[in-house]
Amino acid sequence: MRIIEPSFTILDELDQQSLPVRIEYCGRICYKSENRIDRDSAIPFVRKMAENGHNSVLEMGVATLIVACAGSDPIQALYFLQPKFLQIDQLEGNRLLITGSIRAYREMLLFHPEDAVSQAIGLFLRRKHPYFFETLHLASGEKAIDGIVIEELSLAAVEQLAPPQLAKHRYLAVKFIVNRAVTHELVRHRPCTFLQESQRYCRYSADKFGNEVTFIKPVFFDEQSEEFAVWKQSMEAMEQQYFRLLQTATPQAARTVLPNSCKTEIIVYANLLEWRHILELRTSMAAEPSMREVMIPLQQALQERFPAVFS
Ligand SMILES: Cc1cc2nc3c(=O)[nH]c(=O)nc-3n(C[C@H](O)[C@H](O)[C@H](O)COP(=O)(O)OP(=O)(O)OC[C@H]3O[C@@H](n4cnc5c(N)ncnc54)[C@H](O)[C@@H]3O)c2cc1C
Repeated sequence: MRIIEPSFTILDELDQQSLPVRIEYCGRICYKSENRIDRDSAIPFVRKMAENGHNSVLEMGVATLIVACAGSDPIQALYFLQPKFLQIDQLEGNRLLITGSIRAYREMLLFHPEDAVSQAIGLFLRRKHPYFFETLHLASGEKAIDGIVIEELSLAAVEQLAPPQLAKHRYLAVKFIVNRAVTHELVRHRPCTFLQESQRYCRYSADKFGNEVTFIKPVFFDEQSEEFAVWKQSMEAMEQQYFRLLQTATPQAARTVLPNSCKTEIIVYANLLEWRHILELRTSMAAEPSMREVMIPLQQALQERFPAVFS
């Protein structure tokens, strides 16, 4: 068995990558198959996700658009429609500022075939990122209307938005390496997207996991204490039982003996507004100490990175 400290990484560098590259990186955390990423793997990977309807993977990349129209009616129609899981703000001059994941845009196209601006956005995105939209059979075809102008904002442009809009439209992914109790609490935050290492598919007796189970060092016990010794013995026993079960059973069956202390990896993707909410709750004195262990330094890092939102 291996014992490691918890950690987190703000996936800022991933934001500089194309949508397929970032979605593949996040998607592969489930199977821990990051070793299969190469220069040409991203587009086939996302195409497969779209074909197989692995929609939550397609939530891991967002596009921010400015949509302008000569007349105000089409813009108002979409604004009042408020398609699910899109952030939509009205700007001056018959314009909308819209941020959504690839999944949210795909579902907007499917569920609102009657809305002209939705369809125009669909056409725009399909032209830019065809692999995400190939499998959609749109009900009313391509019903775009004249006079709609769409522009995709770069990340740099999103970061120039005024604080209230920045908080809503800037999405940020953080990868945590923590125990399973912490991730159980994290996934209660409903506006986020999550992808997590799957104990159903990962076989920790395999070479790629070092033929061992990895545990997160508990924040509660001093390494020299008797409590720590008891905890360590329990983990060793649990690992042995897990390996015994794996001789005849699948990983999903064997994992039933694995404890909360198991190391897991999770990517949490949310806008800054939701991160602010999470940090308020999860750094407070009432929060679980293993959660505070990663959230307090994350809060400090985000205060430095986005002072207008987090200070
Ligand atoms: C110290 C602490 C102790 C806890 N103890 C327990 C416990 O004992 N048992 C337990 O079950 N849970 C517990 N929780 C989890 C807690 O109940 C929440 O589920 C979790 O913190 C998610 O936070 P949230 O609901 O504020 O917002 P999120 O899910 O992060 O949502 C963010 C915001 O979106 C909006 N929102 C999202 N979904 C809805 C909705 N369906 N309806 C209306 N508005 C919505 C709200 O404005 C909300 O503030 C605890 C959490 C903390 C921090």
